[in-house]
Amino acid sequence: MIRTASTLLENLKTLAYLLPQLGRALVTRPETVRFPFAPPVIPKGYRGRVEIHPEKCHGCGLCVRDCPAFALELQREELNTFKLIYYPERCAYCGQCEVSCTFGAIYQTNEFVHGTDDLAQLVVTLVDRKPA
Ligand code: SF4
Ligand code: SF4
Repeated sequence: MIRTASTLLENLKTLAYLLPQLGRALVTRPETVRFPFAPPVIPKGYRGRVEIHPEKCHGCGLCVRDCPAFALELQREELNTFKLIYYPERCAYCGQCEVSCTFGAIYQTNEFVHGTDDLAQLVVTLVDRKPA
């Protein structure tokens, strides 16, 4: 009997704590973002996926060499025939590739990479250079 009374008292205390919180939550703005029901608000300076100006790329491979996460791959067939491939699932979003590229070709955007259960879908061929 004593235990039931103390449990009831504990439950009442919990309710007394929760009800005002619930009331407050119903009348204040949500703390969480509304994505995917509204566009995400991305903070300035957010380090997102890598992009490229393909026409500026010379296939020198400096970005590949300096990428600490092995997120870039250069597949070269001949001098002017190469592909630069980006693996976002490996990317550390560090920006080193942008720093290393002396041609100003590769750069970081403030766009994030969408989630998927098929990582192969994320792979991007940034440059597919063929002889003119
Ligand atoms: S941002 Fe960093 S990890 Fe990502 S591709 Fe560039 S160098 Fe590699
Ligand atoms: S993006 Fe820049 S560093 Fe990377 S291969 Fe092209 S030119 Fe070289």
